[in-house]
Amino acid sequence: MVENLLLNSLKFKTLSELFNISDSFHIISGPCAIESDIQAEAVAEFLSKTGLHFMRGGAFKPRTSPYTFQGLGKEGMRTLRYVCDKYSLKAVTELLDIRMLETTLQYADIVQIGSRSMQNFPLLTEIGKTNKPVLLKRGFMSTLDELHLAAEYILKGGNENLILCERGIRSFENSTRNMLDFGSIALTKHYSSVPIIADLSHSLGRKDIIIPIARAIKAVGADGIMVEVHPTPECALSDCEQQLNFSEFHELLKAIRD
Ligand code: PEP
Ligand code: MN
Repeated sequence: MVENLLLNSLKFKTLSELFNISDSFHIISGPCAIESDIQAEAVAEFLSKTGLHFMRGGAFKPRTSPYTFQGLGKEGMRTLRYVCDKYSLKAVTELLDIRMLETTLQYADIVQIGSRSMQNFPLLTEIGKTNKPVLLKRGFMSTLDELHLAAEYILKGGNENLILCERGIRSFENSTRNMLDFGSIALTKHYSSVPIIADLSHSLGRKDIIIPIARAIKAVGADGIMVEVHPTPECALSDCEQQLNFSEFHELLKAIRD
């Protein structure tokens, strides 16, 4: 039996190699959710003018309450694909339900497996049978070992186009939404060549300290960051406290490029 593909065996492609781009520190940004054609296009145009290569946007949202906005579904994926094609961006969106596998493969350049699905083993097994790049987020109640073993389900099927994402874990501290685990990034980089990024928005749940945290994440050796950006965050249908507006996003870019 082959074990520990993540830690011992495989030489992984970097994000630059996967997508033929030259950046060494990657920024995956976009709204929490695709809300409308106008909102999605405003973000895509902004990101492409800013020289970025990826756009994220949820279409099927895993919300704690079933009474809150659940995403536009398939229509949202179609919109994300349309604006990404128009502005030459790579589309990143979450696969929440195995029944949406084919649709997501059709519309996404990177399939995101969200924190709540990290141990959805049938989902991991199915995505492992494809060669679509996968962004696997750490479960907020999962250990680093459990993240690495979840990754094995994807690798075992033969899909080596993997990117991990540290997105913070639950702790007693409540000044940030989750506690961003810098150690998991350092350890993953130390023992594996798999790319790993940090999701600043869902870990912090706030935006006032995003610049120092982004600098620290870069210093610890992450391959990039995920950040939510919205034309009018105060009106966003989900995660309105943590999404950056365009001028805040520019400030962040300036700070991490300095
Ligand atoms: C997201 O990135 O849209 C998201 C829901 O994040 P997480 O799965 O990390 O909570
Ligand atoms: Mn969000």
